[in-house]
Amino acid sequence: FDSDVHDAFAHLNSAQHDAVAFGDGPLLILAGAGTGKTTTLAARVARLVADGVDPQRILLLTFTRRAAGEMLSRARRMVAATGAPASTGKVMGGTFHAIANRLLRRYADRIGLATDFGLLDAADAADLIDLVRDDLEVAKGTSRFPRKATLASIYGRVVNSRVPLKATLESQYPWCAEHTEAIGRVFTGYGQRKRARNLLDYDDLLLFWKVLAEAEGIGDELGGSFDHVLVDEYQDTNALQAEIVAALRRTNDNVTVVGDDAQAVYGFRAASVRNILDFPQTFPGTRIVRLEQSYRSTQPILDTANALVAEMAQTKDNPEFRKSLFSDRLDGPQPRLHTCHDEDDQSARVCDAVLDRREQGTPLVQQAVLFRTSHHADLLELELSRRNIPYVKYGGLKFLEAAHVKDLVALLRLLDNPDDELAWFRILQRLEGIGPGRARVLMEAIGVGEGGVAVAQLGDRVVEAAVHLPAAAERAVVGLAVALGDTAAIDEVAGQVQRLREWYGPVCAQTFEDPIPRMADLQQLEVLAEQSTSRTRFLDDLVLDPPASTGDLAGPPLLDEDYLILSTIHSAKGLEWDTVHLLHAADGMIPSDMSTGDPDEVEEERRLLYVALTRPRHELDVYVPLRYYHQRFGSGDRHSFGQVSRFLQGPVRDTMARVGPRDAERDVPVLAGTAADRVDALLDELW
Ligand code: ATP
Ligand code: MG
Repeated sequence: FDSDVHDAFAHLNSAQHDAVAFGDGPLLILAGAGTGKTTTLAARVARLVADGVDPQRILLLTFTRRAAGEMLSRARRMVAATGAPASTGKVMGGTFHAIANRLLRRYADRIGLATDFGLLDAADAADLIDLVRDDLEVAKGTSRFPRKATLASIYGRVVNSRVPLKATLESQYPWCAEHTEAIGRVFTGYGQRKRARNLLDYDDLLLFWKVLAEAEGIGDELGGSFDHVLVDEYQDTNALQAEIVAALRRTNDNVTVVGDDAQAVYGFRAASVRNILDFPQTFPGTRIVRLEQSYRSTQPILDTANALVAEMAQTKDNPEFRKSLFSDRLDGPQPRLHTCHDEDDQSARVCDAVLDRREQGTPLVQQAVLFRTSHHADLLELELSRRNIPYVKYGGLKFLEAAHVKDLVALLRLLDNPDDELAWFRILQRLEGIGPGRARVLMEAIGVGEGGVAVAQLGDRVVEAAVHLPAAAERAVVGLAVALGDTAAIDEVAGQVQRLREWYGPVCAQTFEDPIPRMADLQQLEVLAEQSTSRTRFLDDLVLDPPASTGDLAGPPLLDEDYLILSTIHSAKGLEWDTVHLLHAADGMIPSDMSTGDPDEVEEERRLLYVALTRPRHELDVYVPLRYYHQRFGSGDRHSFGQVSRFLQGPVRDTMARVGPRDAERDVPVLAGTAADRVDALLDELW
């Protein structure tokens, strides 16, 4: 580095420096949580740009769009500090799926794909699979055929791992194995339907990208258009993504990947730690950089995290993976393991702790509450509202999954692509007097799926199709036709949303019991649309980077107000806060009951816990309710006993301070004598 450049990167340690200064060729940064992997990757982008690499020729792949944005703005500041005139604005950064979408639209006509393809989100894909199953009359009369959610997840797993259907079913879904042939037929039909309708699902984006990158001639051109490819969170990429990276690097081998095998938590989506371990074989001559100093967490927190890593099967099997993180910050509170009477007690204690920390100077935004599964936070959310503590939740019900949002998006989609049968099927059934049967008849009359309807004629077609309907249904269909016609004439996508929302108001009031908040959500959708330049762009963004929740869409409660973060552990990957409160660290919650059978899945849950424990900078509080209530209709409440997670036993537990009752037995009130004796005693008085 010359001296200016040196100043811009002066905050890095020498191993990080090596990685940033590393010239051309493959580079693997393999390191534990909080050691500065992401920071180093951002600095490397900055260094490349400052050195004169054309930013448009740098591809940066991240796990979320937010991560790409943050890395690029950090890189921008570093470039500015070097005094170089270059900017990082043109760096191609985003998730694998978003980049695939951009590249495919650019190259579509050269690979025989229509440029205006539509995107299916996960729910649409499942709906379409189900529609095809229905059309093929597969599983009619069979009772134990997998349901649509299961079919969709089987499909995703097969495609992403590229383990054949038969083998996947036998190993992962043995109860479905008897239907292998029928499932195969549904999947083939699903593929044909997507092609015929010009639709791509999430998995297609990667598959088409792979084909594009591997294609004779054109693939070299694509790969050759990037001088450098960089990937964050490589441990959570799948086989397909690794193949894409390899295909992109046939022209040169400038590729940097960073990751932590101990944080691999997407096995359920067929991500494979093997990618990171096999990287040096795929790219001969790989330089491996290891980072060990954590700049995030204090030593007491790292002691707990290190104890957990030592228990991991992968560490036990491969001692060379053993990582021991250390920090300069030796002092700090010891992580606390709180046992609580029950979930209400847990909520109350977390709220107390959150307010207490705020009192001590840690604002709410510097605190996060993490949990395994979104609904684990339900009771806490109630308590937070009761106490007026503002919060934002990540990773819950996705905004796009809400029925009313799906309705409005469906309307936009059928304007975008009049052949979108899912959108039609959904919207027509919202109309008075129209069920699935009439919806299908109408769709046929309109000509959905035949590729011939122009948006401008949609209104007329719809009106013609409705003539044989009963009066009320006809009126409803005509109303829709008018709204579609009006909307098609509007240029701005925000204006289109506004017009459709007007039409949707009465439908919403008729369909839902709570139309007011739903219509408010749609107003937010309009605000979001204002930031988009075109309808296609808007729809793509909604599918590729959906707002996390309806609350998230409105932004933080009030822009400059302090608010607490609630997040699933998966959505907290790569992030950090001063204080982290982890809920429900009980067996059955983490590891989740769903996974306790399979040792690989249990290991993945342990890595998930590791991700949670390595998020705090300063303070870690872990909560375990010792009793769970199950509300059972008609038969009163029952409770069952919670137990500290098996991952937090032994050496891990020894690194933590214990707060509250230590075991269930001591605290559970037990009836002296038996209930029968008491009942007898009560009755005895009567005789
Ligand atoms: P994760 O595994 O969770 O993704 P990571 O390895 O990507 O973590 P970063 O998020 O890059 O780690 O860094 C963790 C924290 O350490 C950040 O706050 C970052 O600014 C800080 N940091 C990284 N490197 C240094 C350094 N050399 N000096 C001071 N702080 C640093
Ligand atoms: Mg990171």
